[in-house]
Amino acid sequence: MTETLNPFAIAQAQLDHVAAHMKLDPGLHSLLREPRRELHVSLPVRMDDGTVRVFKGFRVQHNDARGPCKGGIRFHPSETIDAVRALAAWMTWKTALLDLPFGGGKGGVICDPSLMSPSELERLSRAYINEVWRIIGPERDIPAPDIFTNPQVMSWMMDEYSKHVGYPVPGVVTGKPLSVGGSVGREDATARGGVVVVREASRQLGLDPAQSRVAIQGFGNVGGFAAMLSKDILGSDIVAVSDVYGGIYSAQGLDPHAVMRHRQKTGSVTGFPGAEPITNEAILELDVDVLWPAALESVITGANAGRVKAKIVAEAANGPTTPEADRILFEKGVFVVPDLLCNAGGVTVSHFEWVQNVTGLKWDDAQVHRELERKMLAAFHETVATARAQKVDNRTAAYVVAVGRVAEAMRVRGWLQSYMCLAPEAKE
Ligand code: GLU
Repeated sequence: MTETLNPFAIAQAQLDHVAAHMKLDPGLHSLLREPRRELHVSLPVRMDDGTVRVFKGFRVQHNDARGPCKGGIRFHPSETIDAVRALAAWMTWKTALLDLPFGGGKGGVICDPSLMSPSELERLSRAYINEVWRIIGPERDIPAPDIFTNPQVMSWMMDEYSKHVGYPVPGVVTGKPLSVGGSVGREDATARGGVVVVREASRQLGLDPAQSRVAIQGFGNVGGFAAMLSKDILGSDIVAVSDVYGGIYSAQGLDPHAVMRHRQKTGSVTGFPGAEPITNEAILELDVDVLWPAALESVITGANAGRVKAKIVAEAANGPTTPEADRILFEKGVFVVPDLLCNAGGVTVSHFEWVQNVTGLKWDDAQVHRELERKMLAAFHETVATARAQKVDNRTAAYVVAVGRVAEAMRVRGWLQSYMCLAPEAKE
């Protein structure tokens, strides 16, 4: 049987596995398998040539038992509702694992931003909010950047929402520019949080990060900063990086800052002087200490997991490893830092941004970095301790902590109780 690469089927399989392990109440389990609410929208956008194109978009609210839904919006040509459903569920688990007072949500628009002008992107961003504004808000659901969305897109979205309600509402989205209520430290937060947990994972394995060789698939916001911070903070050697156009390799190590400048100038990491070309597939199988899948979902599968040589897999992307690959990596003794933990630095600093927006206070870099490190360390140690105590892999352990917190919130809020009140026997 061929393995499913459908992200929502994978997210449900991950939950089913943990529900069986935890002996989760079947009613709670069924409710957590599905998003609580989803909105499908059609977005008419006037293009620069005067024609109107209609884009499909989604906002999925998976669970808000612990607080308002929280999660990014992706602009991607191959976006699907099932990917958005999976990503929304993963946000529920991520915010719970980090013990942030949020639930999980996610949005997506099927479009190719690389083929759109800034004014077309602005009209698309505003059209999206025009359709979803009724179900979002600082107390309901708080979007943020994700693949191919950025602070400028967040600013347009915040502005459009504010027009609808009639006053400025900075707390409706996070990842904004600093001038409209963004937080210092948000831009590199996902990578910085990942670097903190890779440092801890290295300690657990007795590896010196300053001697580590690192490969990174994906050189976007997360992968680019992961390369620079791994070099600058940990002193690791970055031997390979890639983007959608291909990868580059250097046995002596690349200067990630120079690669970033090259990418900003040429639009790709490929063709970086002095490096050899490498494919996106081969980068996953390099003989390195730390491998960061920092691009899209389902890249490490049953077909290639056996060839992964890294000692640590740091999942900066959401959902890069399939359940079959998970089993293979666990049996090989690879230390997987699961996405729920590895890339949680972004939403953690988004929480700090929302806190600043609703209190009107400003945090400085030192406070953001200190609090981020504290949150990442707490989640890391809870995950590792659970994995050890329950003899499970790190992803299962992270789920055990997260699902336990969400289930407890649903229980004390009486969610299952109120459904029972509606059951026929309760009425008799
Ligand atoms: N899109 C990021 C994620 O997947 C950040 C979400 C947020 O900041 O709300 O975690």
